[in-house]
Amino acid sequence: MTEFGLIEYVARLFGDVDRQGWESIGDDCTVLPIGGGEVLVMTTDMLQEDVHFLRGATSAYELGRKSLTVNLSDVAAMGIKPVAALLSLALPSDATDEWAKEFLDGFHSLAKEHGVALVGGDTTSSKAGISINVVAIGRGRAECVKRRAAAQVGDVIFVGDKLGASALGLKDILRGEYATALAEVHRNPVAQIAEGEWLGAREEVHAMMDLSDGLASDLCHILKLSHCGAEVDVESIPAVGGDVESAVCGGEDYKLLFTVAGSAAEQLQRDFREHFGVEIYAVGRITASSEAEICWMENGRKITPQWRGFSHF
Ligand code: ADP
Ligand code: MG
Repeated sequence: MTEFGLIEYVARLFGDVDRQGWESIGDDCTVLPIGGGEVLVMTTDMLQEDVHFLRGATSAYELGRKSLTVNLSDVAAMGIKPVAALLSLALPSDATDEWAKEFLDGFHSLAKEHGVALVGGDTTSSKAGISINVVAIGRGRAECVKRRAAAQVGDVIFVGDKLGASALGLKDILRGEYATALAEVHRNPVAQIAEGEWLGAREEVHAMMDLSDGLASDLCHILKLSHCGAEVDVESIPAVGGDVESAVCGGEDYKLLFTVAGSAAEQLQRDFREHFGVEIYAVGRITASSEAEICWMENGRKITPQWRGFSHF
């Protein structure tokens, strides 16, 4: 079964169990109303040695930060502020106490920056590699929650930063070049956590998610759940190093992808620039289509991309 096949199976299998107010699978976080107009949002992500990281290519400190970053990114993608986390570690005998302490120091440094409390977890041994599982919890106003299913026809599609650096950095790492600037981005991704909360408070922001698998794949999640299509202007994609293929198909950028009411898009862009001092990038529009399909456009004309590792969703 593919990853998405398995998730669909889980969703179907558990269709007969009352969710008691929790939102169903499919968004960056599940959401639970807690009264007073507030919600909790919750997510979990796992990092497995030799699948998600190579112990020799990253420091324990960086890995501590990254394992929390990827979870806080999912909370921010809901438009909500992260407040707490749980951390579970499975450590093999060759992972030293030094390694574990350094990992925790990294995890703590990011938690402190964002005011995220560590409120539980589990510690166990492992026979094969380090496993890290983090649960992140956010708390905020119900009306600030941004769901993947909320895109509307006529919305402008934005990405929150330049894309593709992490994928290019991974290429360097796999070539054994661990010290390049791009490898550094891959090891130390910076999620848009304050930005997510700020966008959550803006009514004109409709759908939002974070980019973990690449624009081509992740935008399709919004399109499927919102029952619409999209046109993306390839020349507008802010690709690091001009490498559009890495920007579109590469993973682990942890930048925000969101759609904004067409009439409010330029003002939002100006307000974001004023508040954060950096740009967000309009890359296309939401269209009426039942196909959940992306039309890739170049200079106003539809093109058929030949990117490697790209499949038509
Ligand atoms: P993200 O990249 O934002 O972390 P994923 O693509 O990993 O999201 O997951 C998509 C959705 O499927 C999410 O809502 C996630 O909570 C859910 N999901 C993934 N794996 C499982 C699982 N094993 N059991 C239940 N839900 C899952
Ligand atoms: Mg996500």
